[in-house]
Amino acid sequence: MTARPMTVRRLSETVINRIAAGEVVERPASVVKELVENAIDAGAKRIEIVTAGGGTSLIRVIDDGSGMTREDLALAIDRHCTSKLVDDLLDIRTLGFRGEALASIGAVARLSIASRHASEPHGWEIVVEGGHVHEARPTGLSQGTRVEVTDLFFATPARLKFLKGERAEGTAITDVVKRLAMAHPEVRFALTGSDRSAIDYPAVSGDDAFADRLRQVLGAEFAENAMPIEAERAGVRLSGHAGLPTFHRANGLQQFLFVNGRPVRDKLLLGALRAGYADVMSRDRHPVAALSVTLDPHEVDVNVHPAKSDVRFRDPGLVRGLIVGALRQSIHQAGHRATSTGAS
Ligand code: ADP
Ligand code: MG
Repeated sequence: MTARPMTVRRLSETVINRIAAGEVVERPASVVKELVENAIDAGAKRIEIVTAGGGTSLIRVIDDGSGMTREDLALAIDRHCTSKLVDDLLDIRTLGFRGEALASIGAVARLSIASRHASEPHGWEIVVEGGHVHEARPTGLSQGTRVEVTDLFFATPARLKFLKGERAEGTAITDVVKRLAMAHPEVRFALTGSDRSAIDYPAVSGDDAFADRLRQVLGAEFAENAMPIEAERAGVRLSGHAGLPTFHRANGLQQFLFVNGRPVRDKLLLGALRAGYADVMSRDRHPVAALSVTLDPHEVDVNVHPAKSDVRFRDPGLVRGLIVGALRQSIHQAGHRATSTGAS
């Protein structure tokens, strides 16, 4: 290589946004995740998702949440703009807080957001194409928000090449919706177009809401083969259902873990789940479970990764011990029941 004098230059806003977008928007399912999380944060009671082409040609999310005023809509698509501002990153009570998703999506796709806030006489629609923002126009809409993302990654063709094909991307979208739906049983979820099976989970409420939603998502077979898991220690609450040791899978895709209403794929929690079954299940089989951990937001850091799927607990040993102990106890009790019924 020939030595050239180097000059240091600032990247253009467009390039900065595309680089940042790569972290937030990895694949169509990440767009669905961000949009549905926004709808949940906006207090939606009903969220409808439509996709086409595994999410690459169309992702549409419609909610009946708070909606946005014209001013908020114009700001919402800018980076680092959020209505969920937190001074304390260890006191996060919303799914979003980074103010990055809409800007990131707008940087790599065609993004249209139509929204109506109760204080506005009509709705407003704004369009962003590969980072280029068009002026807001009035639009007809009842309260809430409709976001449409088309031609995902048209502005970053390299990313398009890494996608796995329509079927696999559609499956990933379904998985994201299922996980968010489990974490929010009070919200009705409808999904069409991502694969052959459409989703429609009516809202459920009351003490059994989580169990009812699990039955909607995982079906009667899981419900019949699962043990309730409830435990609490030092302000950390664990609840959910875990499959009997006889009900196992060849992979861990049916393991659903939540921390403060946020679906996670956290290594500590997955390890605790495995450890709970270590004595009763062979290494190559995987338990089925949906477990929800609730604790003071100050006891967990969710700002570890842009997609927020990893968390750090202030006291990891406590959380792990709680899960392993609760699973072992339930498995033990289920075993007793099985032997006593077997003997009779
Ligand atoms: P974050 O969720 O981290 O705040 P986003 O880029 O996802 O960042 O969204 C920016 C802002 O746009 C949000 O803080 C919220 O005020 C607003 N917003 C986004 N989606 C919706 C929606 N579906 N309903 C109401 N407001 C929304
Ligand atoms: Mg968001």
